Amino acid sequence: MSTLFISDLHLCAGRPQSNAAFFGFLEREARGADALYILGDLFEYWAGDDDLDDPFNASVVAALARLVASGVPTYLMHGNRDFVIGAAFARASGVQLLPDPTLLRLYGQAVLLMHGDTLCTLDLQYQAFRREARSEAWIGRLLRQPLVERKAAVEDLRRKSEQEKHIKSAEIMDVAPAEVEAQLRRYGYPRLIHGHTHRPARHLHTVDGHACERWVLADWYQEGSYLACDASGCRAVSLRAS
Ligand code: MN
Repeated sequence: MSTLFISDLHLCAGRPQSNAAFFGFLEREARGADALYILGDLFEYWAGDDDLDDPFNASVVAALARLVASGVPTYLMHGNRDFVIGAAFARASGVQLLPDPTLLRLYGQAVLLMHGDTLCTLDLQYQAFRREARSEAWIGRLLRQPLVERKAAVEDLRRKSEQEKHIKSAEIMDVAPAEVEAQLRRYGYPRLIHGHTHRPARHLHTVDGHACERWVLADWYQEGSYLACDASGCRAVSLRAS
């Protein structure tokens, strides 16, 4: 038995390949897991829980609900694309929403879970936007707009963020090593698992003499991938290869 971690699926109706990989993963690999953690950006964007009736969104919720009903506890952390996922989504799907960051003990080891965007502190412009957009006032203003307008507004934000990706340097878009070390120190030198940067890797950080493993989860644009952890450690698994 192992615990599985995924992130950055960026599901949307227009990306059938990753959707199929995700639905297959929930039916097969995830079925025998101790738990499944989804560390943000499950959706390409989420306009609000009043969009649960959208046929594509409903199909994702139903697939998650089937996994939860099969006995696999499933947890969801917000990403920067779907941070207005709320209580109605959690009720409909049966997933439990997790704060970012979350520190847990897994098979006797401390594990720190994050989406990963808060580690990208060199991107000052994004961090300023993030602070504003995560405020109750900003979210309240967004959710008061009619759904159709909101979808257009969120789509607009998404397009801008895609454009900025091409302007910003690779270094600015990645995590800041100093911030990673600060968080590892703050949480007692755990293993860190995060997504967001779409740069899957296993890194080793030595902080104050403690060796800490940092796993970066893969995105699902090309193919599915997950991290499986048990008492002996973690391994990244590509769905194509498995
Ligand atoms: Mn992200």
